[in-house]
Amino acid sequence: MSDASSPETPPVLEDLGHGIAAIDTGFVRPFFDASHLLIEGGRAAFVDVGTIHSVPGLLAALGAKGLPPEAVDWVIVTHVHLDHAGGAGEMMRRLPNARLVVHPRGARHLVDPSKLWAGASAVFGEEATRRSYGALVPVDPSRVVEAPDGFVLQLGGRPLEFLDTPGHARHHFCVWDEASRSMFTGDTFGLSYRELASERGAFVLPTTTPVQFEPEALLASIDRLVARGPRAMLLTHYSRVVEVERLAGDLVREVGELVALGRGADGRPDRAARLREGVAELQLGWARDHGTPLPDDRVGELLAVDVELNAQGLETWLDRGTTRAAR
Ligand SMILES: [Zn+2]
Repeated sequence: MSDASSPETPPVLEDLGHGIAAIDTGFVRPFFDASHLLIEGGRAAFVDVGTIHSVPGLLAALGAKGLPPEAVDWVIVTHVHLDHAGGAGEMMRRLPNARLVVHPRGARHLVDPSKLWAGASAVFGEEATRRSYGALVPVDPSRVVEAPDGFVLQLGGRPLEFLDTPGHARHHFCVWDEASRSMFTGDTFGLSYRELASERGAFVLPTTTPVQFEPEALLASIDRLVARGPRAMLLTHYSRVVEVERLAGDLVREVGELVALGRGADGRPDRAARLREGVAELQLGWARDHGTPLPDDRVGELLAVDVELNAQGLETWLDRGTTRAAR
């Protein structure tokens, strides 16, 4: 994983209307990892917060909107992967009135982040984890709100509804904002790197990060998000996309191709290498079919981390053995 950029980098803040702004957390590269800031009636919420290195930029963005740290009621993390929730503990330390909203399956890991640290180290290596994510600050359990499916909270009188959306991770929810008819999708609606957009519009690819990729659950979750009839999906990687039906179709097809790749490689002695090569080939093919106007080597650079994560995630899925039962 690449180095996080320095905290002095000024935040890139984009207004999306309806009191919503996307803030670049500065993680990995520009327009890779977003936090979303919602403001209603002078009260604020963040949805996903990047890493501890992102916190100064997020607070600067809040200040640029004319709000003090005391105006933040909610810090919401779509799931506890560290590019979404790594900065949650430090944010809570800096926001005296905020409560942290997290999936019931993720809550204990933000109170005691030792397992998150161990999990990230297993995927990225100890040294890279320290460099990319810095420290994980534990959160006082009295400030944690667990949001099960159907949970609704109010931001300055504006309802935000939580949908349990397993598939990318079992500790993942998405957040529905009826006021803007937008869905905050975390990683459930995949990744849409802006560099890979074409005349056809936004590019999307699924993320099968270890260790809880479940293809059937992911497809059901995508259906559930689309069934709301959103005007926009707000992805953490990277922010607003609007062609919801077309992108959902692309995602479903791509998940199917990853599953077929996994099944074809399973049981073979060179499974790991086959998966890496196969994922790289599929992802490049998707970008080419989409008409992405970048040379192959640049597409490869942009998607390198996702080759590794998606291949590792397919391996952990195959190791659980659920694929055989589903055949
Ligand atoms: Zn994730």
